[in-house]
Amino acid sequence: MPVRISTTNSKLGLIPSVNLVPVVTCRENCPCVKECYAMRGNFRFANVRKSMEQNYEYYKSNPEKYFEEIKLAINNGMVSYAYFRWHAAGDIVDKQYFEYMVKVAEQLPLTSFLAFTKKFEIVNEYIKDHGALPQNLNIVFSAWGADFKIDNPYRLPVAYVRFKDEGKTGIIPTDAVECSGDCTTCLQCWKIKAGQSVVFKKH
Ligand code: SF4
Repeated sequence: MPVRISTTNSKLGLIPSVNLVPVVTCRENCPCVKECYAMRGNFRFANVRKSMEQNYEYYKSNPEKYFEEIKLAINNGMVSYAYFRWHAAGDIVDKQYFEYMVKVAEQLPLTSFLAFTKKFEIVNEYIKDHGALPQNLNIVFSAWGADFKIDNPYRLPVAYVRFKDEGKTGIIPTDAVECSGDCTTCLQCWKIKAGQSVVFKKH
């Protein structure tokens, strides 16, 4: 049961990603669950849904192999990707999963990795115990309106959401990068650093 790597996401263009079943892998009481984009659009198709579920099951049954296969898909000696996105759908499963993500970044230093997450605690705990993340692994904390608190003691980059209702949006830093919707030509999220932010329009 090989890991399904996606290269067909319209926003990511040619940048490969691995996706996991949403909600199940997201934080408990995730504030965006009712409006989750990963439950809509192409993600609704049975084959896409099935591949995300299979990836999740595969990780649970054989984490070592799951990450080995991802590494091979990114760099197999012939093809090497410069950019990789973790979880256009889904989130960091657990502490062990994140430790593997860090290892993959360390072992593939020529690839830049990006993950958005609302599992702040896993990342914060890792940094507390192990120190800074590899330079080529950009973890961006996902905000969700004024009422959702982000625990961000290490000032990791933040992705804000601009809702139609300004009151719901809350405060967005004035220097936040506006998402253009085309990662291949933008790549900002792979590059934003501590204290910086990006903003997405709620669609
Ligand atoms: S800001 Fe750029 S890199 Fe980030 S999600 Fe939007 S298009 Fe992609």
